[in-house]
Amino acid sequence: MLPDLLQQMGFVAADRPTVGVSACLTGNPVRHDGGHRRHALVQDELAGLVRLVEVCPEVAVGLPVPRPPIQVVEIEGARRVRHVTAPRQDLTEALADQARAVGPALSGFVVKSRSPSCGLGTTPVHDEQGRPFALGDGAFAGTLARHHPHLPMANDSDLDAPLFTQAFLLRVFCHHHWRTHGADGLATLRARSGRLDEPLLSGTRRFLDRLAGVRH
Ligand code: SF4
Repeated sequence: MLPDLLQQMGFVAADRPTVGVSACLTGNPVRHDGGHRRHALVQDELAGLVRLVEVCPEVAVGLPVPRPPIQVVEIEGARRVRHVTAPRQDLTEALADQARAVGPALSGFVVKSRSPSCGLGTTPVHDEQGRPFALGDGAFAGTLARHHPHLPMANDSDLDAPLFTQAFLLRVFCHHHWRTHGADGLATLRARSGRLDEPLLSGTRRFLDRLAGVRH
């Protein structure tokens, strides 16, 4: 049980980290086709443990619902996000700006896999003829990951693995503790992490070591 795991680490329910989430995962009908991709674990479990902040980068940059689809295209080595049917319309920088704006307030982000905006390492990358040839990042998620390399991030599809979800949630709460208590709080977390079983113990300690190396 996720609440038991957090209690084991001494995290209190009232002190909730702020976690961004792709808005379509909460059941918000903001997808290009007017639908959503409600994710049961996000809504039924994570929403009770953290403070979820919904973000739809495509709506935030002014695109309507429904809207024409967009895709990641590699052009002379650079990956751009463009409309499928109107390739001159390039959204890459606008989507990246959204990531720069929301990142500093967060202790984690759950993104929608395979999206040209939100996917992280799961998004089809197309050649200039529109043929998919690789997987990469969406413009929003990739920028968030590059600008905030210590921010815990997960694709919705990653959360299908219970162990991944446990490790992700521990990193989110450790990140929040670090943001609110500073580097001094890390020693406390390192001591408490001894209560965890492997492989969560080693994974959490590696993450704490990474945070210790960041200027706060
Ligand atoms: S841009 Fe992101 S949040 Fe918005 S519909 Fe697409 S995947 Fe969902």
